[in-house]
Amino acid sequence: MFNILQKTFSVGNATANYPRVGPHLAEQFRGCPEFDFNAWSDARPAADACPTGAIAVRDRDGVRWVTVDYGRCIYCGECEQASGASAGQISPVRMTRRFELAATDRRDLILTAEYTLHPDGTHAGLQSATSGPGAEETGKRIEAAIHNLLGRSLSIRQVDAGSCNGCEQEIVALTNPVHDIERFGIHFVASPRHADMLLVTGPVTRNMELALRKTWAATPHPKAVIAVGACGISGGIFGTNYASMGGVDAVIPVDVYIPGCPPRPEALLQGILLALGRVQQTLDVHSHR
Ligand code: SF4
Ligand code: SF4
Repeated sequence: MFNILQKTFSVGNATANYPRVGPHLAEQFRGCPEFDFNAWSDARPAADACPTGAIAVRDRDGVRWVTVDYGRCIYCGECEQASGASAGQISPVRMTRRFELAATDRRDLILTAEYTLHPDGTHAGLQSATSGPGAEETGKRIEAAIHNLLGRSLSIRQVDAGSCNGCEQEIVALTNPVHDIERFGIHFVASPRHADMLLVTGPVTRNMELALRKTWAATPHPKAVIAVGACGISGGIFGTNYASMGGVDAVIPVDVYIPGCPPRPEALLQGILLALGRVQQTLDVHSHR
């Protein structure tokens, strides 16, 4: 008994202080890709290599439109390799360690760039480009959500709508001593009738469509829905087909999208806290009526 106590005290507090303190990332951790649209001389190799169609190219009348959808991206790194990295060149596409991409608007996850073209199809000049999700604004929203959390707890029902269970592994990690989601007053519950929020994984298989609709209907108002991972946002590697609905918002309304494949626990926490701000806003509106 004494040995157990001694061990416990020597380990100390293992819980991370995320989001106030950044996470410890393993050396081999890979986040989302970053695109230097100015230096990109040809988007086609990356688009051809992308296994989920996250990079799309459309050419017309000597103009190319390139879209990059972080909601489809699985952070595989194929685009970096296809854009010169495999030949030892400096690639205009670079894999980063960035993972905090949760967004309340699906459109915020999509970058676009427009190029004029040379006759051989390479880029002649960049005409316009959009930037990615705004981390600063997200940070402020999280601070506000944490502040509001001090007044109430939150119950989450997780719904597996056809996931490979990779996302579930990370969700389970939220309850371990390192991430300890209960420190925010957030609990996982067994019934949607007790839930404030649905955390949905998987591309929504056709077999799970009705179950998801019923689960959403059984969750009392006000409620928030989070689409987890590339699958939950867009169908991910499975896409939309005879067996897959192609994402949660094809079936029920979604409040927050959390990219990744799977999203790491801190990314999930960031998205949950972001969604909490939405629940709180709805509660405020109701209480002022
Ligand atoms: S990292 Fe993302 S954008 Fe790049 S090839 Fe993989 S899925 Fe496509
Ligand atoms: S997003 Fe990736 S980890 Fe999550 S269910 Fe889909 S394939 Fe699995």
